[in-house]
Amino acid sequence: MKKITIAIDGFSSCGKSTMAKNLAKEIGYIYVDSGAMYRAVTLFALRNSIFTADGIDEKKLQSLIPNIIISFVLDPATGLPQTCLNGENVESEIRNMEVSSHVSPIAALGFVREEMVKQQQAMGKQKGIVMDGRDIGTTVFPDAELKIFVTASAEVRAERRYKELQGKGQNPNYDEILKNVVERDYLDMNREVSPLRQAEDAILLDNSHMTIEGQQTWLLEQYKKVVGA
Ligand code: C5P
Repeated sequence: MKKITIAIDGFSSCGKSTMAKNLAKEIGYIYVDSGAMYRAVTLFALRNSIFTADGIDEKKLQSLIPNIIISFVLDPATGLPQTCLNGENVESEIRNMEVSSHVSPIAALGFVREEMVKQQQAMGKQKGIVMDGRDIGTTVFPDAELKIFVTASAEVRAERRYKELQGKGQNPNYDEILKNVVERDYLDMNREVSPLRQAEDAILLDNSHMTIEGQQTWLLEQYKKVVGA
C-alpha cells in the first residue's frame, strides 16, 4: 500500500498525541511528537540559564542551538517513543509544569523553529510518518496527503491534562493547568512565525465529547479513505 504523510495539528492537550500515536502503531508508521522537540529545547534553555530577569537570552540560545540534539528511542517495555536530549532520556521531565509554562516563548523564536522544522522534514523524507504539532500541515509538511486539525474546549483539555498528570503520580493544580492551556493557545495563535491555524485542506475534528476509541475509529477511516483501503 502507498505510504503517505499524516499531519495532526491542534490546540494543546486536545489528545492529538494519543490519536497520532495509536494510528501510527496500528498502520505501522513512524510517530513523531513535534511538541516534545520544542519542550526538549525549553528544558535545555532552563538548564542553561537562557531565561533571565530581562527575558530570553536569544543570542546565547542561538549560539548553543547546534549543541542541541533531539532524538527518539523506543521504550522496549511499552513500545512508545521516549524523547532524548543529547542522548539523555528526558521524556518525563519535559512534561512538567515548569517546561509547559516556558515552552511557548521558546517555540515562537524563528531560529528555533527553523532548526526544528529542518529536523522534522528530514524525519519525514521517506513518508510513512504521523507527526503531531501546531504547524505540521501548514509549514512542515504542506503537501501531506492527510491533515487533521483537532480542537476541544479549554476546560475539557485542562481536565484531561489534570488526569494525565495525576495518573503519573504528580499533584497537579487544575486552575494552574487551565491558565496554562489558555495562555499557550493565545501565544501559539498570535506568534509571528508559523502561528497555530488550521490548514485550508485540513479536516476539523472537535473531540470535546468523543471517546478515545471513537476518535481512533474516525481517524482510521480518514486514513483508509486517502490510501483507498
Ligand atoms: O504539543 P505540546 O503541547 O507538547 O507542545 C508544546 C508547545 O510547543 C506548544 O504549546 C507550542 O508552543 C509548541 N509547539 C509548536 N509547534 C509544534 C509543536 C509544538 O510551536 N509543531
